[in-house]
Amino acid sequence: MNTLSHLAAFDPEISEAIANENRRQAETLTLIASENHTYPEVLETNGSILTDKYAEGYPGRRYYAGQAFYDQIERIAVERAKKLFNAEHANVQPLSGSPMNQAVYFGLLKPGDTILAMDLTHGGHLTHGAPASHMGKIFNFVRYRTHGSRGDIDFDEVRNLAIKHKPAMLLCGHSSYPRELDYAAFRRIADEVGALTMADVSHIGGLIGGGVLANPLDHGFDVLTTTTHKTLRGPRGGMILCRKPFAKAIDSGVFPGLQGGPHMHQVAGIAVAMRKAATAEFRAYAERVLANARALAEGLTARGMPLITGGTENHLLVMDVAAWGYDDGAKAQNAFEQAGLVTNKQLIPDDPKPPLRPSGVRIGTPAITSRGMGDAEMAQIAGLLMTVLEGGDAEVAAEEVRALAAQFPIPGHEPRAAESR
Ligand SMILES: *Cc1c(COP(=O)(O)O)cnc(C)c1O
Repeated sequence: MNTLSHLAAFDPEISEAIANENRRQAETLTLIASENHTYPEVLETNGSILTDKYAEGYPGRRYYAGQAFYDQIERIAVERAKKLFNAEHANVQPLSGSPMNQAVYFGLLKPGDTILAMDLTHGGHLTHGAPASHMGKIFNFVRYRTHGSRGDIDFDEVRNLAIKHKPAMLLCGHSSYPRELDYAAFRRIADEVGALTMADVSHIGGLIGGGVLANPLDHGFDVLTTTTHKTLRGPRGGMILCRKPFAKAIDSGVFPGLQGGPHMHQVAGIAVAMRKAATAEFRAYAERVLANARALAEGLTARGMPLITGGTENHLLVMDVAAWGYDDGAKAQNAFEQAGLVTNKQLIPDDPKPPLRPSGVRIGTPAITSRGMGDAEMAQIAGLLMTVLEGGDAEVAAEEVRALAAQFPIPGHEPRAAESR
């Protein structure tokens, strides 16, 4: 019997689906760069009675009574977030990454304003003005791109675009770009044209908090946004960190501008994740995430797989499976999943293939690093990935993945639930 005994008694369908998902996670490897396994402490805050109550407003300025402990929790989360990111102000209420970015745009800009952002097929995110998104219709997005085999950002191009389009905001950040960014170069261009600077570090927030990648706020950026459930390893959610002069506009951009009541069980989980992220263990984790990505990249390159930008400086890499000779990334994603290697298909810069059958597959190391894996396991996983693409037996590969996964249990997951059935 697992800890969800009330649920098991009342709703066997949902209870069983959760148990099955627990087993799926335990027996496969999560290689999706935006995913992670959170801490047992965060699973506890997420499942707590903090889900019950409304807390519209901010600590000391709420709309309903009974806020003493909610105020305490939110103040702690804010102080820890500010300290981790060396920020003057923090808002921990965004329900997730997308509303977090929307709250910044609406809080600091006017509809129709121009935002200069990274091209979406070059690694930018949907919320950076994809034509299909509401933001893409409300704001005027202009694009800079990556260049050359190393995928560099050409700052002369960014500067020329900035001078030509006079953006109100210069936005950097990405969800599928394996290189570090030169924040000081962005800041200099923004200063030249009088633009605000925003870095959406959703994917790499934990690597910045862990001190292994550069912090945009240390290079004069006005605003930093990050999800809390990717490399930060916390509950699903988002945070906005900014300089003092923008604090008021950001807070009212979140509430009442965009959202109603905050999810305080998430906010408590963010507080816990911030406490974790301030430890020496977390810094070692962040270093390991990077080392594992490098090791995986080396293993794949040694077996002939071309990688977008030629390698990685963060937690992810993108395999160009089409250039290697495989049909497309969607087919590769399916073949990997048959073998228990859970990945996602990915567009590559100027992809000649369509979005649902793109050329690439994105691979990330945050979740397998949370399970405690290191160099030896990365070499093994690189071998497994290539064996699958070379047409090896999926069941044999899945058996090897299950054996590997069993050696590295997910911290805090119910081992009994994984065994059941
Ligand atoms: C994941 C991500 C988001 C959105 O987060 P959701 O929680 O999925 O809404 C925003 N920006 C970037 C760069 C991301 O990687």
